[in-house]
Amino acid sequence: VVTQARLIDGKAIAAALTQQIAGAVAELQARHGVTPGLATVLVGDDPASRIYIRNKTKACAAVGIASLEFTLAGDTGMREIVALIERLNADERVDGILVQLPLPGGIDDRQVIAALDPAKDVDGFHPLNVGRLWSGEPSLVPCTPQGCMLLLRSVVAQTAGVTAALIGRSVVVGRPLAALLITADCTVSVVHSKTRDPAAITRQADVLIAAIGRPQAVTADWIKPGATVIDVGINRIVGRDGTPRLVGDVDFDAAREIAGAITPVPGGVGPMTIASLLRNTLLAACRRRSLPEPLPPV
Ligand code: NAP
Repeated sequence: VVTQARLIDGKAIAAALTQQIAGAVAELQARHGVTPGLATVLVGDDPASRIYIRNKTKACAAVGIASLEFTLAGDTGMREIVALIERLNADERVDGILVQLPLPGGIDDRQVIAALDPAKDVDGFHPLNVGRLWSGEPSLVPCTPQGCMLLLRSVVAQTAGVTAALIGRSVVVGRPLAALLITADCTVSVVHSKTRDPAAITRQADVLIAAIGRPQAVTADWIKPGATVIDVGINRIVGRDGTPRLVGDVDFDAAREIAGAITPVPGGVGPMTIASLLRNTLLAACRRRSLPEPLPPV
């Protein structure tokens, strides 16, 4: 008898977290008269980026976080972008600043990120937050890795001593996740495009996290029987019947026969990313005012 892996329902877990955040925001307002605020900065009019910003604004509204949207022309220069960031750094209504990346060609993302007040850096990309994360100190943790950790903890209550393998080492996903897993006392392997025989490494892992950006690249032979599999990938493919659909980096149907628990795509990591952004904005609002944090560390 083949038993199928348990599904890790990111949508439901994100909904529960979002509800918790809404409660904490209401309490912050009632007790301290504070409404957390998120400022989004979009440079240019990339349609996909516009949709992301709209979704973030909607998610804020649903939990009572105020949002301020700033849209700059695609040809805005570095000096003007940094001037806006500095204004937002000084703006008392703003607890979180999110710069939609990538910025248009010619603008150095890193220089813009470095201009952020680290206390308002809700994406967790400022060098100070990166350094704190790697030092195991309190920081604002990048949203997608944070979402992965929360999903992992929903399955694996005790992470100490767990063997984890990460596929991918991007600045946005793989690297911060490696830091989080180390802090959670996991034993971590990171494989990437230069790794020799990555499957031999990932097959040893109790927890496998794929962040590659290649549709269904992780097949059953990469997975240890009973492992917890978290699929960060979001890839658009055309199905056998000719209709476009979203798939992860893991071959879901095959993986489900061998894994112990697995995230679906969509409905896994995706919803957790946006919930984590709300979580960071709430935490930033509390920390900036030295108020107690209503949610535990990741
Ligand atoms: P990325 O910056 O392109 O990084 C991909 C990583 O995978 C790189 O480290 C690369 O290695 C590695 N890699 C590529 N081919 C490989 C192979 N054959 N074997 C082993 N490793 C390989 O991508 P990313 O930004 O981390 O995103 C990864 C995926 O997650 C994408 O599908 C993206 O759409 C998705 N994503 C989802 C969310 C969400 O909210 N759910 C958020 C962010 C990203 P090298 O370093 O050697 O090049």
